[in-house]
Parts: sequence; C-alpha cells; structure tokens
Amino acid sequence: HRPVTRACDVVVIGGGQAGLAAGYHLRRQGIDFTILDADPAPGGSWQHMWDSLHLFSPADHSSLPGRLMPTRLGETYPDAGHVVDYLTDYEKRYDLPVQHDTRVDAVRRDGDRLLVEADSNTWRARAVVSATGTWSRPFVPAVPGRGLFTGRQLHTVNYRRQADFAGQHVVVVGGGNSGAQIAADLALAGDVTVTWATQRPPRFLADDIDGRVLFDVATARRRALDEGRSDTGGVASLGDIVVVPPVRAARDAGLLHAKPMFTRLTATGIQGADGSRSDADAIIWCTGFRPALAHLAPLNLRGPHGHIATHGTRALGESRLHLLGYGDWTGSASATLIGVGRPARDAAREIAELL
Ligand code: FAD
Repeated sequence: HRPVTRACDVVVIGGGQAGLAAGYHLRRQGIDFTILDADPAPGGSWQHMWDSLHLFSPADHSSLPGRLMPTRLGETYPDAGHVVDYLTDYEKRYDLPVQHDTRVDAVRRDGDRLLVEADSNTWRARAVVSATGTWSRPFVPAVPGRGLFTGRQLHTVNYRRQADFAGQHVVVVGGGNSGAQIAADLALAGDVTVTWATQRPPRFLADDIDGRVLFDVATARRRALDEGRSDTGGVASLGDIVVVPPVRAARDAGLLHAKPMFTRLTATGIQGADGSRSDADAIIWCTGFRPALAHLAPLNLRGPHGHIATHGTRALGESRLHLLGYGDWTGSASATLIGVGRPARDAAREIAELL
C-alpha cells in the first residue's frame, strides 16, 4: 500500500509520560495534535520494566499535570504496573489522540512544514514534539573482551526477574539506581551469587531521602539559577542511589557490596585490574541510556557530542521542533513523572505562539 499523507498542526512523537503531558497542555492551548507511539499499548517504557521495580516517590509525587496518581492501600511506592494503569487511564480520561503501533522513522523539512514519516503514513505538521525517551537506546560501554564472553549478556532493559538466574553467578555492572536495584533483587533471591561492579564506590543517599526530596532540591536549584543566585549543587551533590526498600533490605543484610569495575571480559567471566579472574554465567549491564533521536537525523541538528542544542525544550537549529522528557538538558527533572509537566506546559505555550 502507498503511505497516506495527513495534515496536523502538531505531531507528538512518543506516547509515554512525556508525550501524554505534552498532549494535555496542547489540548489546553486548543491546538490540533496527534500523538504517534511505537508501542502497541499505553504506558511507555513502564510496561517493559522488571517485575519488582517500584518508583522512588509516592504516588502523589509521581503525577502528571491535571490528575493525581491514585494511591493503593498498603503501597507507599507504586510499582511499574501501577504506573502503566495510571498512564492508560490518563490517555483515556483526557481522550488523547494516541495512535499506537506507529514508529516514526524520520522527520524532514518540507518548506513551511515538517514531514513526519512512519511506514503507514506521513504527517505534514507545523510543529513537532519529540518525546521518545531513552529506553529504546540502551548503552553498553566498550569493555575489552565483550565479544569473547560466552555466557549471557543483557542490559537493564532485558532484565525481568530473579528466578531467571536461579543457581547462577551474575555480574551486575553499574553504580546507579538500576544497578543497585537489580543487584539487590538478585541478592535477595538467596540462590543467586551476585558480583556488583561499579566504576567508583556507590554513593547511597541518606535513607530518608526519596524522590520527593530530590524533586524539591532540583526545584530549589532551578529557582536559584533562574533568579541569578549561586548554584546550590542540586541533587547530584547528595548521592546517586535512592535507598528504596529492596536496596535497604539487601544492604542491611550485608548482601550489597560493590567491587571495583573489572577491566576485561574473558570467555568465561571477568578479569580485574590485578589479573584476578572470576567465572560468571551472566553479565547485566546497568550502564544507562542515550536519548532516542535517530528519527531526527535528517534535520542535521546534532552537535559534536551527538546532542541537539536546545533553549528550554526548543531546538536551536529548528524552532518548530521541541524535545521533551530526555533529561535535565530538556528541562529540569523532565525525565521524571512529576517533573515533565512544567516543560510540557512551556513547550505547548511556545508552540501556541509559533502557530
Ligand atoms: P518512555 O516512557 O520511554 O516513552 C517513550 C515512548 O516513545 C514509548 O512509548 C516508545 O514506544 C515511543 N517511541 C520511541 N521511539 C519512537 C519512535 N521513533 N516513533 C514513535 N514512538 C516512539 N521517574 C520517576 O519519576 N520516578 C521513578 O521512580 C523512576 N524510576 C525509573 C526507573 C528506571 C529503571 C528508569 C529507566 C527510569 C525511571 N524513571 C523514574 C525515569 C522516567 O520517569 C522514565 O524513564 C520514563 O519512562 C520516561 O518517560 P518518557 O515518556 O520520556 O519515555
């Protein structure tokens, strides 16, 4: 079949939390828009996360604009399934026009329009919001010997549950939240031997600091900078790892000890800087993500480090394009449920002015 061309004022690419928050604010501005989402079902990356994952903030601190995430009895920190339910309901409640199962391959300039190309259709839009997240671009560092290892190698995105590793020795790599949580999940299983390898000693936040405090600290920093006061240091100065209940349980049981990062992989395991070797069945790379921006390549906006320069959410080299939800470079705390609302509102306002 031949792709059909459709016209629409604004196309939002990605229907996770960032795309939905954009939809909420575009609707409030009275703008005609559509949301294209590669996943077959609502929930963005939350539908792919591991079984035991819980948010690091309570429900009322994990809400998108307009509607509080409901709390569930006996659950302080909602699990990923709860977030999927919330986003599914959010999409319906605000009647957001999300077309699932639609992956955008390219965005191109065409005179005063941007062409948004998916395999089924092409949209001619006056502005585009890219909100494709990072989940589809897992990052694995180039460690020597990676191709030699004959065991299993997976990334955070492929981890599901501890039972898949019963009786095995698993090396978990990465000193951030994913690494700590997956190492804790496996260690608490009892029948999995875990080696947790981190580049520098892990920095745990104080036990009473959860996402609420982090959001408050990030907000105070943004305000200080906005008002020309000195930089308060923000959340990075506090530590990296939120001590969520499973991490605390594993740490308190003495199961969560980090070892310095190994220097290479061998056919059967890992080798440290001192030459010591250890066999392993699996390596789980909890080594982060990169923004999923391949569809924007035809616009030629990438700078030397692969990033697209922005002012707020607006791309500097293409004022009809906004980038939303990728991290602090697209708005303070924009890669969180509670934080994406504000940059989404600002983007919708700027787009309303442009149109
Ligand atoms: P996503 O949820 O990844 O959604 C992007 C959507 O875009 C997807 O539906 C995808 O199908 C679609 N898409 C991608 N490419 C294309 C394309 N080319 N064309 C069309 N559609 C496309 N935040 C919190 O606030 N609290 C937490 O406790 C928390 N815990 C986290 C734990 C983990 C392990 C991770 C990885 C992140 C966590 N975050 C947390 C951060 C953040 O909230 C999530 O990463 C969130 O999913 C980001 O939302 P998003 O909408 O930007 O991206």
